[in-house]
Amino acid sequence: MLRGVKAAGTAALLMGCAEAQAPAGVPNVVIVTLESTRTDVVGAYGGGSVSRPEVPVTPAIDALAESATLYGNAFSVTSWTLSAHASLFTGLYPTAHQTDGPRDRLDDSYPTLAEALASRGFATAGVVSGPYLRHLHGLSQGFDQWVDGISAPIDPLAHDDVTNPEMLAALEHWLDARDPARPFLLFAYFWDPHFDFRPPPPYDEMFVGDADEPMDAGSFDTNPAIHPYMAREHLDWIQAQYLGEVRWTDEHLGRLFAALRERGLWDDTLVILTADHGEEFFDHGEKGHKKNLHVETVHIPLIVKYPGQQEGLRDDRLVSLVDVAPTVLDVAGFEPDFPVQGRSLRAPPSPGRAIFFDLLATRYTRQDAGAVAEQVQRWRAVQDTEHKLIRRGQGDAIEREELYATGSDPGEREDLARGSPERLSRLRVLLGSHLDESARIAADYRRGGEVELGPEEHEQLRALGYLGP
Ligand SMILES: [Zn+2]
Repeated sequence: MLRGVKAAGTAALLMGCAEAQAPAGVPNVVIVTLESTRTDVVGAYGGGSVSRPEVPVTPAIDALAESATLYGNAFSVTSWTLSAHASLFTGLYPTAHQTDGPRDRLDDSYPTLAEALASRGFATAGVVSGPYLRHLHGLSQGFDQWVDGISAPIDPLAHDDVTNPEMLAALEHWLDARDPARPFLLFAYFWDPHFDFRPPPPYDEMFVGDADEPMDAGSFDTNPAIHPYMAREHLDWIQAQYLGEVRWTDEHLGRLFAALRERGLWDDTLVILTADHGEEFFDHGEKGHKKNLHVETVHIPLIVKYPGQQEGLRDDRLVSLVDVAPTVLDVAGFEPDFPVQGRSLRAPPSPGRAIFFDLLATRYTRQDAGAVAEQVQRWRAVQDTEHKLIRRGQGDAIEREELYATGSDPGEREDLARGSPERLSRLRVLLGSHLDESARIAADYRRGGEVELGPEEHEQLRALGYLGP
């Protein structure tokens, strides 16, 4: 079960474990990320099933939110797994942590949240079930234990995997085997909501409406039968399967929360629940994620139960995934001793704040002779409380800019770029300063570069659409 166990961070090794003792009273920390989870499926966000509104999709998350703080305007930094998690752990945007290609790894030179906590005496463990969280992509830095064997690389159809029960078993095992004298950071990444959407019974029927029609939705990303003009009853059925995956994962989240309660670990623990990105069902003409930076793939649930919190609160400030690492350090009572671009969620509001997004989208198209053409497109975006600028192009060349009034048009339907030159230029300036800052930070670290994927690992990422046909 335990694979890829990595030593704790450099600081802990230098200090020696016996010396690296956490001060008394620091809280335990549990961070959970859900794969591909749209905010509008989460009940606590007012979301749910359109066909079966009487069946809750996320009862465990909704119950968590009753005694936690729900961040209504929380966004990822990108629309895919590896880059988003690298930001979660470093507090840096993708341009700064330089982990944005489909085979990339986060370089060891970057300080991470887990390294910071390990060096202060925390026991650190990660239990993960998707391919981009495997040890080789560098996100296990600072974790004493890293359980990444649950999504087996030998299975090329990893998107069919059912991993939730093994995830729960590994998490409970770690909770029982841990050293009770040390505070801990426990990280869990639940993979199952990723396509293909094949939840086990009864979740496969739970959200199916009377008019929905089943279809072969295998190989979701490359399946030519799943396109923007497909029959509504088929698309609704696919979305019902997606909701089934989320509900099936939510059930296991509920069991994880119960496991913490049963062990007396609930009340004083900092619990953070979020997602790496959302998922698109042709909202802007695409399916899946990692295609663009529109709201359906970057708006994420973020619910934080602070130690001792009993009351449910809502905070609608604009916040980002890069805020998680500084928040954890703040709640634990430590100053970050490395550069972060996020800020603690407990810090006073900053009304003029802007957040940023970055994506290297790779498109693969099969040519007549069977060859595969690869087209790389750079997407960047900046959002403040009123507007969002989305830019795309090749390399540094800008091909298109779109501007949305997110306050009145949260679905990003009406592009205002042509009629709002002053707003456009203001956001361009913000984006330019952000890129300069990110480049300055990146210059102090090494780019992790591409990992050597074994044949099974390559096949698994290929089957998921990340490496082309
Ligand atoms: Zn993901």
